[in-house]
Amino acid sequence: MLRNKDILDEKDKSKILHTISKEVTFPMDESDKKAINDMLEYLTNSQIEKIAKKYDLRPGMGMAAIQLGIPKRYFVVVHEQEEKETFKNYILINPRIVSTSEEMIYVEEGEGCLSVNREVEGIVPRCARVTIEGYDMDGNKVKYRGREELAIAFQHELDHLNGIMFTDRIDKDDPYKGADIYRAI
Ligand code: ZN
Repeated sequence: MLRNKDILDEKDKSKILHTISKEVTFPMDESDKKAINDMLEYLTNSQIEKIAKKYDLRPGMGMAAIQLGIPKRYFVVVHEQEEKETFKNYILINPRIVSTSEEMIYVEEGEGCLSVNREVEGIVPRCARVTIEGYDMDGNKVKYRGREELAIAFQHELDHLNGIMFTDRIDKDDPYKGADIYRAI
């Protein structure tokens, strides 16, 4: 079972988090399948208050392989549904965004990341809706549409595969740039 300490922090391994991850080839390595299942388990548990408390897990809905020090192009998102503690899992291997909305949104209280354990000032404008394509663990093509927080999670995690942290996307001189134009969620 993954714990907080297994997830790389921007401070201790910042160079690793800034590497560009490599495409996955199929059939996928068993170790990568295990990492995916571990990440899904962590994210699910982290969003269930009782379990999160017991194991001291930081709540998160997405994780990319690079956050475990694996420089390969895959990530997972565990999205809580309207019915509490019901989750939909997304596994995306070699993903790419194939269409985006014109509308931009941002997380009002600021974006979060399991690799950033500090308060960060500023916002990250993101597309309100995206369509993302990739592969599942068996190498089958998958395609998902995300809106609102799910769309933001897809964009945030895809950034990780390109070595980009959300903090890199905050305007240094004007951290709240766009807050007056784009929609807060
Ligand atoms: Zn992150």
